[in-house]
Order: sequence, then structure tokens, then C-alpha cells
Amino acid sequence: MTLDRRSFLKLVGAGAGAAGLPMIGRAAELMPKGAKRVVVIGGGYGGTIAAKYIRMMDKSIEVVMIERNDHFVSCPFSNLYIGGIIKDLNPLTIKYDKLASNHGVKVVQAEVTGIDPAAKTVTTSKGTVSYDRLVVSPGIDFRLEEMKGYDAAAMEKMPHAWKAGPQTVLLRKQLEAMKDGGTMVMTVPLAPYRCPPGPYERASMVAHYLKANKPKSKLVVLDANPDITSKGGLFKKGWKDNYEGIIDYRGAKKVTEVDSKAMAVMVEGLEEVKGDVINVIPPQRAGQIAVAAGLVGDDKNWCPVNATTFESTKQAGIHVIGDACVAGAMPKSGYSANSEAKICAMNIVALMNGKELTEMSGINTCYSYITDKDAISVAAVYTVKEGKIIAVPNSGGVSPADYSAAKLEAIYAESWLRNILVEMST
Ligand SMILES: Cc1cc2nc3c(=O)[nH]c(=O)nc-3n(C[C@H](O)[C@H](O)[C@H](O)COP(=O)(O)OP(=O)(O)OC[C@H]3O[C@@H](n4cnc5c(N)ncnc54)[C@H](O)[C@@H]3O)c2cc1C
Repeated sequence: MTLDRRSFLKLVGAGAGAAGLPMIGRAAELMPKGAKRVVVIGGGYGGTIAAKYIRMMDKSIEVVMIERNDHFVSCPFSNLYIGGIIKDLNPLTIKYDKLASNHGVKVVQAEVTGIDPAAKTVTTSKGTVSYDRLVVSPGIDFRLEEMKGYDAAAMEKMPHAWKAGPQTVLLRKQLEAMKDGGTMVMTVPLAPYRCPPGPYERASMVAHYLKANKPKSKLVVLDANPDITSKGGLFKKGWKDNYEGIIDYRGAKKVTEVDSKAMAVMVEGLEEVKGDVINVIPPQRAGQIAVAAGLVGDDKNWCPVNATTFESTKQAGIHVIGDACVAGAMPKSGYSANSEAKICAMNIVALMNGKELTEMSGINTCYSYITDKDAISVAAVYTVKEGKIIAVPNSGGVSPADYSAAKLEAIYAESWLRNILVEMST
């Protein structure tokens, strides 16, 4: 009997594992590849949709989606949980079983530890997986080198809650435990970061909770940006009408250091601000796996892509979508990731079948709650012009300045969430 190199390594790997010996050579291949395979890294807003739509458009393509968790918790609406409006994270949580049973997506729960663009393989905690094309949608990681003192231990005392899950629960518990008359401090990083209006919605939801439960308390927002980066006029009116004396907003206050023992943050080494509860939202970049694979551009933070196919301009055969990519005028939002995933899926199918490409027609709406019953939004439609994604002039805009649509928009927002989570999980 003769053995090829791959089968030999597989046998060695299996034997070594069983005997508790170290593995020799490359990690064992997890699943043999058929004729056409796309691997998707990340089962969040971008990854689930890319995986599902490729299968819906072409059943001859095998799709393997690799995600470290067995479920996904949505960041959209997690601010409402922090503000006590939603009682638990269940309505924000999805599973992947229907992507498998309805669409035949092969879901692998594993950590992706490396990408080899030349060999067209990804390495995971469970073995290697080969691909013909790869979609990378890992979301964000933090630029901790720009926030001195903010390590894993500090995160447990000063949660970021910028990836939904245990951190979100921790921040809510801390807020609930804070004494009336206490101060919560929130830091906002310089843009671009995940969800431009997200920090200001969070401020609104925290203020809503304080007003109802701890009226002597206040919230200090230290924003590295000179002013509110999204829907500024609307947020300011909402805060004036509802939270006067509760939210103390301070622009151009870039926090660069934290002291979790003293429960204090430092504004560029000049000013110390103390809090009973401190929510540190650090500066961000593309998820670590994208950085390690050399997909980030000159800024070393975000991944440049072709505006039509979302194929990386750094590595052929790899597409980057969602927060990790540079999508021109599109903001880093779940709705953008959903739109990008669909156009990327359509063009991957075209590329793998030698068909014509389709140019993007993208959409985004970001709703933000101001109170439990009032929401505001910003919306736009996107297209490609001269190789760049631009907002179609006059295609969208923000909510009426007088809040006349706010009650209706709160209802639309809830329906948006329900629809998008169902789309991701069925
Ligand atoms: C508080 C808050 C509120 C928000 N509100 C809104 C809103 O109202 N509307 C809106 O549109 N957007 C909102 N967003 C933004 C939205 O959450 C993100 O833009 C969206 O999640 C981006 O999708 P993604 O696919 O890029 O990343 P994600 O959805 O984060 O998915 C990434 C997935 O990849 C997995 N992963 C990463 N690395 C690896 C690895 N090495 N191996 C295996 N798995 C890996 C992660 O576990 C994760 O499940 C909000 C964000 C925050 C923080």
C-alpha cells in the first residue's frame, strides 16, 4: 500500500493525538475538499449571510463556515439590555443549526489561527481546511497598545461591552450595583470604529436607566472625537429633552490610559477622571486573524478591498466583508455587513462560474434608541463610482429634527432587528 503525503500526515496526526504525542508536520486536514469550496471565517452579521447566500445561489459550491462560538449574540440592541429595557440576551442570540439543515452550510466550531494564501488553507484549532475562495468576516479587535493599562484583567473591572455577550452582562450588573449618586464614565475612541452612533445610543440607554432608577447619578462621556460622530443634532436634542443634568458630554477628550485599581481614566496624560462604573470602548482594528494574514492596508488597521467583489487588494482569492474591511462611504454596521455579504456572495458565485460581475447596490439604516419608546435613524443607499463605494446623493438622510417620527422609528427598529436575525439564522 502506498500513502500520499497528505494521507500520511493525517495518519501521523491521528496517531500522535491518540498517543498523546506531539504532532509532526502540518496539522491534519479537517475535511477533504470536493470540486468547489468557499470557507467563511466568522458567524456574525457578515459571515452567516455570505455563507447562506452562496449556498442559495449555487448548491454545487460547498460552504464551510468556521466560528469560535456555538452561538452569536447581536451587538445591535445590546445597549437596550444595558439600559434595562430588554431583560436578557435571549432575543439577541442566534444559533447556526438551521444554516446547516436548511442550506447545507457546514458549520465548524473552531478558532481560526492562521491563513495561508499560497496554499489556500486556513488553520484552525481542529485542523486545516482548504478553500478555493475565502471570506473573512471576523469583526473587530482592540488596539490595546493605544490604551495603556487596559489588559484582560482591567476589562473585567472596566468592561468594553463592544462585543456582545459576557461583557455586556458585566456592564449591566455593574450599573445595577452602582449606588444612587454614583458616576459612570464612558470613553469613545476616535472614528472609525464599529457602529458610529453606538456609543451615543449607549449613553442614552444608560441615562434612561439612571433617570428611572438612580436619579442622583450621572454619566460622563469622554469622546476622543471633537463632537458626536453620527446624528449629532438629534442626539443633542434627545439628551436635552430627556436627560438634562444626567449626561455630561465632553468632546475632544481622548483617553489613552486606564487605572483599574484606582477606577480612573487619563485623558492624554493630562486629566484624571474617576468613576464608580467605567465603560472603556478602546480604539479598534480588523479582527486579529485579518491582521495576521496580512490583509490590512497601510494604516495597519483595516482591510482594503475591491469595491465590487470585496476581494482583498492584498491577497488574491480572499474576500473581506463587515467591520474589518474598508467599504468607502458605508459605515461599520451590521446592516452594512449584511449588504456587503450579499454582493460579495453573488460575485464569488460569478467568479467561480466564469460569469459577469454585478456592481454593488448596498443599503444601510442605523437606528438608535433615545428612550424606551423613541428612536432616530440615519439611512443611505450605496453604489460604486470610479472604483469606490459612495452614498447615492439624496438617497437617505436622518430622522426629522423635531422627533415627529421617533415613536414609529422605535417600532421600525424592533422589526429591523427581528428580520435581520431571522435572515441570519434560518
Ligand atoms: C453596542 C453596539 C450597538 C450596535 N448597534 C448596531 C445597530 O443598531 N445596527 C447595526 O447595523 N449595527 C450595529 N452595531 C454594529 C454591528 O454589531 C457590527 O457592525 C457587525 O457585528 C459587524 O459584522 P461582522 O460580521 O463584521 O462582525 P461580527 O458580527 O462581530 O462577527 C464576527 C464573528 O467572527 C468570529 N471570529 C472572529 N475571529 C475569529 C477566529 N479567529 N476564529 C473563529 N471565529 C472568529 C466572532 O466570534 C464573531 O462571531 C452595533 C455595535 C455595537 C458594539
